[in-house]
Amino acid sequence: MSCFVVSCGGFCIHRRNQVFLEKNKICRNKQGRRVDLSRNLLVAVLPKTPTPQKDPVQEKETKKDKETPVQEDSFFSLVLSRVVDTIDDAIVHFNRSFFPPKIEPDARKPVLAVLGTGWAAHSLIKVIDTVRYDVKVISPRNYFLFTPMLPSTAVGTVEFRSIVETFRTANPFVDYLEAFCVDVDFEKQMAICECNIPGEKRRFQVYYDYLVVAVGAATNTFGTPGVQEHCYFLKEISDARGLRRAIVERFELASFPDISQEEKYRLLTFVVVGGGPTGCEFAAELHDFLVQDLKKYYPKLFGDVQVLLLQSGDSILTQFDRTLQDKALENFRQSNIQVITKARVTEVTSTHIRLKDGTEIPYGLAVWAAGNGTQPLTKLMLSKIPEQKEARGRLLVDKWLRVKGVSNVFAMGDCAAMEPVPLPATAQVAGQQGAYLARLFNRDYCLSCPVPESEGNSVAPLARWRPGGSPEIAKPFQFLSLGILAYIGRERAMAQIETGVEKIKMAGVLTYLLWQSVYITKQVSFRNRVLVLFDWFKTRVFGRDMSQF
Ligand SMILES: Cc1cc2nc3c(=O)[nH]c(=O)nc-3n(C[C@H](O)[C@H](O)[C@H](O)COP(=O)(O)OP(=O)(O)OC[C@H]3O[C@@H](n4cnc5c(N)ncnc54)[C@H](O)[C@@H]3O)c2cc1C
Repeated sequence: MSCFVVSCGGFCIHRRNQVFLEKNKICRNKQGRRVDLSRNLLVAVLPKTPTPQKDPVQEKETKKDKETPVQEDSFFSLVLSRVVDTIDDAIVHFNRSFFPPKIEPDARKPVLAVLGTGWAAHSLIKVIDTVRYDVKVISPRNYFLFTPMLPSTAVGTVEFRSIVETFRTANPFVDYLEAFCVDVDFEKQMAICECNIPGEKRRFQVYYDYLVVAVGAATNTFGTPGVQEHCYFLKEISDARGLRRAIVERFELASFPDISQEEKYRLLTFVVVGGGPTGCEFAAELHDFLVQDLKKYYPKLFGDVQVLLLQSGDSILTQFDRTLQDKALENFRQSNIQVITKARVTEVTSTHIRLKDGTEIPYGLAVWAAGNGTQPLTKLMLSKIPEQKEARGRLLVDKWLRVKGVSNVFAMGDCAAMEPVPLPATAQVAGQQGAYLARLFNRDYCLSCPVPESEGNSVAPLARWRPGGSPEIAKPFQFLSLGILAYIGRERAMAQIETGVEKIKMAGVLTYLLWQSVYITKQVSFRNRVLVLFDWFKTRVFGRDMSQF
C-alpha cells in the first residue's frame, strides 16, 4: 500500500493512507520516516518495502494504462507546448536573476541530488526552481561541456574554454560537490561519493529526497585488447587536449633525422575507429587541420600523411538517409580520407591495428569512437535493482523518467532508456529530458506515488494534486526531434531536418553555414557564442595554433 503526503498548510493529518502536511513543517509518515516539504509542494512517499498486498488503485491504473494509451502530441502542438514551456522557464530565470532567493540556512527543503553536469543535468539545473528545492549537484567536473564541438577543439579550430560553462554560472543557487558518486543506498536515500580533487581522499554521503541520475555513458571498447592502453578517446576536454598535443607530436617526431621512411609513414598514419557522427566529424576536422595548417608548416612530410576511417558496418553516418551517407562518402573520398567499411578491429598494439580478416594496419595515432558503453555507477545500480534485470546497460525509466524498481530516483540522458522504445543517446534528447524533469518538479507534480483514485482520471501515475481539486495528469516526456547535422570537412556539412510533415535533406557549403548558425545558437551562454565566433574568425585569419605546452 502506498502512503502519500500533501502540503496544504495547517497541520499533519493521517487520512486512510494519506498524510497532509503543514507548510514547511517536518512530518513523519506511517513508517516513521521523516518527510520534509516546502510550501505548496506535494510529495508522495511510497513505503520503502512494498507490502505484498495488491493496491487496488495501482491495479486499476495498470489495467487502464493498458486500455488507454497515453496520447502523443503532434509535431506542431509539441512545438507550441515547448514555446509555452520556454516562457515558463524564462520566468523562473527572471525571478532568480532579479529577485534572488534569500539564503535561509535553517530552512528545510526537499533535497534534490543531481549526479552529473552534462547535457541533461545542465538543462535541469537551468530550469529548476531553487526556492522550492535544495539542489545538490555531484559531478567530477565543475563545468558543462558542449560535446558537439569537441572534435573542433581537438584540432584547435575552437579553443577548449570557448565550449565550456562553469556550473555555478548556470545556477548560482545550487550546491556543487566536485566528486564521483560511487554508490547509492536506495534504502537510506544516500548517495555515496568520493572527492575528485587531486590529493584529497574524502568519502562522504549525501542524503536525498529525490535523486536524478544523469551520469552519461562511457566509451565502449567492446573489450577489444589494447584499446584502453593505446587509443585516444573523444569524450571529455582532457581527451581533446591530449589529442591536440599528440597530433602535432607525431609531426615533430617524424621530423627527426634518424626516423626511417617506413617509420615516418607509420607515424603519419592517423586512424579513426567508428563511422558514427563523432568519428566522422573528428576525421573531417583532422583533414582540415592537415590541409589548411600542417601542410604549410611540414611540407616535406605531407606526402606521407594518410587518414583512415574504419567502420564495422557497411556505411557511415547511418543516422542519416542513404543519399546523405553517400554524399559523406564522396566528400571523404575527395578529401583523401580512406573509409574502410566492414572493418572490425580485434586488437590494438602500440604500433598496429589488427582487423578480423587478419589485416594489420601500422598507425601513429588512433582515435576510438566506436560507441557508447555503461558508466561504472550505472552498472552498479543496475545490479542492485532486480526490476532492471532486462536493462541493457542503461537504466530503464518510465515515460516520466522514473527509474523502474526504486522510488524517488530518476534517470535521463545517455544513462537512461525510456520504455518501451529507448530514445537515441544524443544531446538533444538529454537536454529536453533535463528541462522536462525540472518542470515536473517546479509544477508541483506528485513524483513518487500513483495517482490518487478519483473521477476515472488515473491513466498515468503522476498528478498535480491540490486539496479540493482534481488531479491533473502530467504529460509524459515526448521527444521533439528537430533533425540532425554533421560536419563532413572541406567546409561542408549535412542536415536532415524534421518539419513534422517531411524530412528536408541537404548537404554542401550552404549547409555548413546552417551548421555554424545552429551551433552558435545552441551555445549555452552569450559568452560562449562570442568566444566560438571569435575562434572561428581567428582560425580563418591566422590558422590554428600548434604550440605545445
Ligand atoms: C565528441 C562528441 C560529439 C557529439 N556530438 C553530438 C551532436 O552533434 N549532437 C548530439 O545530439 N549529440 C552529440 N553527442 C552526444 C551527446 O554529447 C550525449 O548524448 C550527451 O552528452 C548526453 O548527455 P548526458 O547528460 O546524458 O551525459 P554527459 O553529457 O556525458 O554528462 C555526464 C555527466 O556525468 C558526470 N559523471 C560521470 N560519472 C559520474 C559519477 N559517477 N558521479 C557523478 N557524475 C558523474 C560527467 O562528469 C558528466 O558531467 C556527442 C558526443 C560526443 C562525445
